[in-house]
Amino acid sequence: MKAKLNDEELNLVSLAKKYSNENRARKLFEQLRWPGGKPVCPHCQNDGTAKTISKLTAKAGSHSSVRKGVYFCGACRKPFSATVGTVFEDSHVPLSKILMAIFILCSSKKSISAMQLRRMLKTTYRTAWFLAHRIRHAMGADLKTAKLLDNTCEADETFMPNFERPDKKTIVALIVERNGEARTRVIPSVTAKNVGDFMAAAARKTAIVNTDEHPSYKLALKGQDRHQRVNHSKYEYARKNQDGSVSHVNTCESFFSLLKRGVFGAWHCISAEHLAKYASEFEFRWNTRKSTDGERMVAFVPMIAGKRLMYRQPAN
Ligand SMILES: [Zn+2]
Repeated sequence: MKAKLNDEELNLVSLAKKYSNENRARKLFEQLRWPGGKPVCPHCQNDGTAKTISKLTAKAGSHSSVRKGVYFCGACRKPFSATVGTVFEDSHVPLSKILMAIFILCSSKKSISAMQLRRMLKTTYRTAWFLAHRIRHAMGADLKTAKLLDNTCEADETFMPNFERPDKKTIVALIVERNGEARTRVIPSVTAKNVGDFMAAAARKTAIVNTDEHPSYKLALKGQDRHQRVNHSKYEYARKNQDGSVSHVNTCESFFSLLKRGVFGAWHCISAEHLAKYASEFEFRWNTRKSTDGERMVAFVPMIAGKRLMYRQPAN
């Protein structure tokens, strides 16, 4: 019988008791990966409607064992499993541990260090580190398909410490819809072009955007219907407008303080190279903050599709 994917099923106790068996873990993983209830070919997106998808089995009498969980797509005639075409493709970590790592990252509000994940999952440090990065990478919203932010938004940026180059700070730009979702992007400098491009990709023109008095936003947000600024240098942190709305960037401040707690509390030092993935992790939990841990895991797993992460990302 198929497990109902709720908090009863998706918690650490259940994952450890019921899904430590690889066969069961794979079935649960498939259920999360394909919420439609049947496998979808990652090569041609055939869901079995166009041509049959069959389970690949060893020939009768043959001693060669076909890897469990391998399917064959009748449309493109290619084999696939639930991890093909996802951030976990070519990972050798057992699915039971991948599921636990997903749950831990989905439910840890202040994140977790690779060192702690290594101890919890009994893996090597390298495995835990890479596993966490695969998950973070998948947590990032794809701006090409993500819902555009609208209504009242705030935009701001924060300087993060660069532990490899203390003389150089790295910058996380943020656009957040009040009572809505957040989008993050690592930018090399706070220029009108950088923040403007990000705004155009993440929010609707009709969104009312609140920022501080940084001059780049003035230029960058010319395309927006309405731009409200608070003057921090004049100790103005919130301003009540005539229409009753309040201009401030306090939501951005809350987001950044969470992110910084992760950097200083859990990770201690992170490199600029990986900052975007850490920001994505906080962005995802922020965007699902009204969900339970189990619901967050259900929302997360389909996001692993169409994304890859190499161990050493080549420079540029
Ligand atoms: Zn196919």
